[in-house]
Amino acid sequence: MEDQHSELKRESQITELEMEDQHNELKASLHVSLRELYGQDAQFRNFQLEAMLSLAEGVDTLLCLPTGTGKSLIYGLPPVALGPGFFSVVVTPLIALGKNQVRSLADELEVDARLFTNSSCTPEEQKKMAEDLKDEDGSIQVLITTPETLARNQLLRDALSIASDAGKLFCIAVDEAHVAHQWGHDFRPAYALLAETLQIIDRTRVPIYACTASANRDAQDAILETLSMSLNAARFVASADRPEIQLSVVYKELLDKNERDPVAKEMAAFITDDSCGLIYCRTKSTCDAVAKRLQCIEGLEERVGTYHADLDQRIRERNQAAWEEGDLNVLVCTVAFGLGVNKSNVRWVLHYDPPGDLADFYQQVGRAGRDGELARSVLFVSHEEVAKGKRYGGMRGMDDYVYGGSCRRKVLTSFFGAAKSCSGLDSQFKCDVCLKTSRLNEALDRIERLAAENAEGRTPANEVKRPLGDPSPLKPLRPAVLRKLGSPSNNTNTSTNGSNANAKVLALAPDSSLRAAFVSPWKGGGGGGGGGGDTGTKERQ
Ligand SMILES: [Zn+2]
Repeated sequence: MEDQHSELKRESQITELEMEDQHNELKASLHVSLRELYGQDAQFRNFQLEAMLSLAEGVDTLLCLPTGTGKSLIYGLPPVALGPGFFSVVVTPLIALGKNQVRSLADELEVDARLFTNSSCTPEEQKKMAEDLKDEDGSIQVLITTPETLARNQLLRDALSIASDAGKLFCIAVDEAHVAHQWGHDFRPAYALLAETLQIIDRTRVPIYACTASANRDAQDAILETLSMSLNAARFVASADRPEIQLSVVYKELLDKNERDPVAKEMAAFITDDSCGLIYCRTKSTCDAVAKRLQCIEGLEERVGTYHADLDQRIRERNQAAWEEGDLNVLVCTVAFGLGVNKSNVRWVLHYDPPGDLADFYQQVGRAGRDGELARSVLFVSHEEVAKGKRYGGMRGMDDYVYGGSCRRKVLTSFFGAAKSCSGLDSQFKCDVCLKTSRLNEALDRIERLAAENAEGRTPANEVKRPLGDPSPLKPLRPAVLRKLGSPSNNTNTSTNGSNANAKVLALAPDSSLRAAFVSPWKGGGGGGGGGGDTGTKERQ
């Protein structure tokens, strides 16, 4: 009995050791590939390594990180590290975005990436790509497509089915995954049907990798549900803190009533020669009206453009390009603007009126200051607008942000999980509440009186901060990944002292240093900023 017990115990130890070896070997390959691309000092950041290992285990994985922080490396690097005949599929919402991804994957990761859509490629091109995907030594490493093409193109569907059976498919990445949930029910039914569409692949062997810029717990659950991802999916959620963005609110009730449009006047002061900014409006008509008013101000005639869904696509693209190149200083836009935009030097994001809820607000504000330099967010808001939004079931979290009277950074970050206040920041980065400006105190007093008249109760208190998850136990890597690694998956070596660890593994940094390198997801790995501390949450249930 005793013997049997110790035998079993030894067996489980051996298995753990073997698993550790497998993981170390994969980590080594990934590190080698990373360093070949970015030099000897290159380190993974922002949960990149953890997410790749999770996918290699075959676990559905959700990653919430801001745009421009290396989410594409997670599906792009493993096919490079694992060698020919291994590829990832990326589902992207827009063809234009897909084209940019092909370019940046080629430039930054030297990956053979192709765009496969019904409208952007000829039948011959489609056929050629489908053959390559089925080929054991095919050259394509990342295939980018849209949910519509994936649903309808039989050539692609057959090729993916064969490739997944052959163990060639590393993962199905769903980029901008919040879109799948938000748009699926409105104008992109193919998104709502994506889970069904993906039944062509063996989901027990090919994991889904959903990535998005920001999602609180409810939005994360909605993404998992829409994509039929495992309820035990690994979730990697970056801290929502953006210490470089100074947050403030201007209460419209307090602006000069004698001005025709006091908000536009305040906004005009932001538009200077070399400034770059965005003004968000709730509706398309407000967008046009605000732009018109700004364009009437002397000196601003040529500096302001618009972007919303009613504009002709060519005009939208032209305005966006002019703004990206600095020919326009500001775009007045609706929520339609911003998908895939990655301009680093946006100095301010102003809101002419309150957005739909705090999640929208965060996503829009997050377009400022990606270069890590001081940027500003100013929300112009009236009590009436918030009350009206609430009547229509919106404004989740906005009440607390606008009228809560506590640190705005804290309200915003706690909405996404881990609260961070302004304490410890230089005064220029502190929110208006923490700066305790007299204007703010006066505002809150007056607004509170107004609010009392309309007492409807506030939104519930902030979500409870979730603790950093315990490191999860290792899982065996997928057979397909092991084959590519050339690792003996049935290693019968019974050595239990661990000294058989692969020599090249020993040179690697331990995991803790990877985590330490993750200071602020909006700065390069290991860069300065934010005073360490809470860096995000990782959960693997
Ligand atoms: Zn604050």
